[in-house]
Amino acid sequence: MNGETRELPTNWFLQFPKVVGETTNFLMDLFGGIKEQIIRRINVMSIEDKHNISNNSFIICELCNKQIEKIDGRHLKNHTISFDEYRIKFPNSFTITKEKLDKELESIEIRKLAKEKTDKDTKLVKCYFCKKDIEVNKNQSNNESICKECKGSGLISPFQQRAIDSMRKSLLKEEGVDNASLIPSVVKKRNETVELKRQDPNYFKEIVEKRVNTMEENFGEDWKEKQYELSKEGMFKKLGVEYALQNEESVVKFKETVANKTPEEKKKIVEKGRDTKERNKLRKD
Ligand SMILES: [Zn+2]
Ligand SMILES: [Zn+2]
Repeated sequence: MNGETRELPTNWFLQFPKVVGETTNFLMDLFGGIKEQIIRRINVMSIEDKHNISNNSFIICELCNKQIEKIDGRHLKNHTISFDEYRIKFPNSFTITKEKLDKELESIEIRKLAKEKTDKDTKLVKCYFCKKDIEVNKNQSNNESICKECKGSGLISPFQQRAIDSMRKSLLKEEGVDNASLIPSVVKKRNETVELKRQDPNYFKEIVEKRVNTMEENFGEDWKEKQYELSKEGMFKKLGVEYALQNEESVVKFKETVANKTPEEKKKIVEKGRDTKERNKLRKD
């Protein structure tokens, strides 16, 4: 008997009834919980482990004595019993022929390979904006794909637009805010403005001045001090210490990192640290 000699650790409970014979069902009913567990166990087993395999060209159904290749849900429908129940009721009976099992395993393998292939299959579609050919997964259904370049320039397809709209709606509903930076036309306009202003050397100076004015309006003249305190507070919360390097872990990591550097690199790190210190000092002043 093939099924008896094969070593299947997941099958231990099916071996067990062979010893106790007729008392099996009684015990199963007695320990209803165990029965539940066994059924659950069978459900997650592979097709090979689920069955008691016969080397004959057919097996015999214990309920109707028919010669068939496999006991499965389809056949058992007429007997109003599930496969798991059949397996528990007739633990020593064959449920599949070796030939049938091999056929099933083969078709499972074929289906698996076919799925892997379609997962990798791509198709060419035109970018929604610039009409350039782009490669997308064959299963991708929407015809509003956009290329990397268009995406990079802030363009958003109607498909994404709809997603953003619904997000904005729920944001508005739940948070009472409407994030303008999520609106594509705003993004596009902003990108264009930045590009124009980038050519104007006074632009960033203006931005800084504007920001200083806004901050002073909102937080008073000592806003720099307040901001510094806030960032310190944030860092404190994050690391549990006032400064990152006071955290032992950070120190050890920092030392380890430095130890592996060349003298050139070490010099750079020291210089960088000095720059940061200077900048912090300026911020404080
Ligand atoms: Zn039958
Ligand atoms: Zn494009």
